[in-house]
Amino acid sequence: MPTDFERDTDAPGAILPLTSADAGEDLDAFAPLILDTRRREEAFRDWPTTKKAKAVAALQHIASLHSMTDWDEEQLLRYLGCPIKTRSELDDLDRDQIDRCRLYVATVASTACQVVTMSDRRAVVLELGRIVHDRRLDAKSLRKALERTGADDISALEYVRLGEISSAARAARAAAGLRREAISESGGPFGNVPRVHLSPGRIGQYLAGSRDLLGDAVFNFIGEHLGSCEACDAAVERAAQ
Ligand SMILES: [Zn+2]
Repeated sequence: MPTDFERDTDAPGAILPLTSADAGEDLDAFAPLILDTRRREEAFRDWPTTKKAKAVAALQHIASLHSMTDWDEEQLLRYLGCPIKTRSELDDLDRDQIDRCRLYVATVASTACQVVTMSDRRAVVLELGRIVHDRRLDAKSLRKALERTGADDISALEYVRLGEISSAARAARAAAGLRREAISESGGPFGNVPRVHLSPGRIGQYLAGSRDLLGDAVFNFIGEHLGSCEACDAAVERAAQ
């Protein structure tokens, strides 16, 4: 089954309408500023220093997300939920609006760089973009949602660091109030069974010593997590037998 973004990127004309390509380079387009530092300098020339510094910082985070995901600039902006299309729209933003945008893309970039593979990084961007869109969250609330310890006794960010992006998305959505938390302690016959945070696939990769597949950071964090989580430790023991 193709995921949403695969379907999307395969569609002809999904990135830019043909007319704008026919018209040649659009000098007022915002997206080229992400990678073109010379054009960026020129665009921000008359801006106040602080506004300019915040915009440059935001664009640097977007540029690092661009290299992490290998999406083109327009696609990336769309998946981040950015409503800005032109330099004039960017000019109209005030310093605080730009700073909120900076904090948001900084949060997405720092979360995405916890995992190694491009598909995991793309999944992080898409999931965070969706949560912010669905819940109309600001960047600060998104950070809080990622860091909040949920019903599984770990946070969404910890799930990301374990390489478990789907569980991370579920935990973040619950923390953001988009979804009821899973029944815990009191509910049902499995209420007292402690939650295993690692998927069987991840446990297999860990036991096989697949550092290159998981990335050093994820591999090491799994080791660290096993030291403090009895449920996952026992699951790894069982799988190793
Ligand atoms: Zn665990």
